[in-house]
Amino acid sequence: MSTGADDTTAQRLRLLQAEFLVHPQTGPGDGRSSRPTHAPAPVNLGVVDRIRAAVYEVEHHTRTAAPTAGPAPAEAARVYDWARQHTSHLATEQQNAREAIIYRQGLEHAIAAGDTDVVRKHPCPQCGCVGLYWREAAQRAVCINHYCTDDNGVSNMWELKRLAHDHISRKSAVARRAT
Ligand SMILES: [Zn+2]
Repeated sequence: MSTGADDTTAQRLRLLQAEFLVHPQTGPGDGRSSRPTHAPAPVNLGVVDRIRAAVYEVEHHTRTAAPTAGPAPAEAARVYDWARQHTSHLATEQQNAREAIIYRQGLEHAIAAGDTDVVRKHPCPQCGCVGLYWREAAQRAVCINHYCTDDNGVSNMWELKRLAHDHISRKSAVARRAT
């Protein structure tokens, strides 16, 4: 894979943590009481679980491929570098599988932080149109092309896993052509 490892996923994870897991600053008190004006917002447990599951997935995948990898770093966002370090000797397909997971998690972190536009730049796997949009209820990216539908006339929808797989395959093909 490329040497300039894409650390977007780690950045997005940090952003998600900063957005949802850090207790907001308490407002100024009224001067007579030590109680803050606003109670601190509770830590968002959904996000905690989401991050934990993401780290576990990468950790598990890495250990399966490289049983001697040792402990994963304590800081969640560093798990991606750790995974790359310990699997950089593996065959291209295995590295692509790792990158597809990391890339998908980057999309998931961004969407969890409210940035659903991240799906837009991906071409539709069916028709190649660019301009997918995120449908929260379905947890899928939907094609904007009115003619791109299934047999029932429902717009084609794609899991992030599929978009990530296609993205990494394209990147890998470009890298192969360049060498
Ligand atoms: Zn389409």
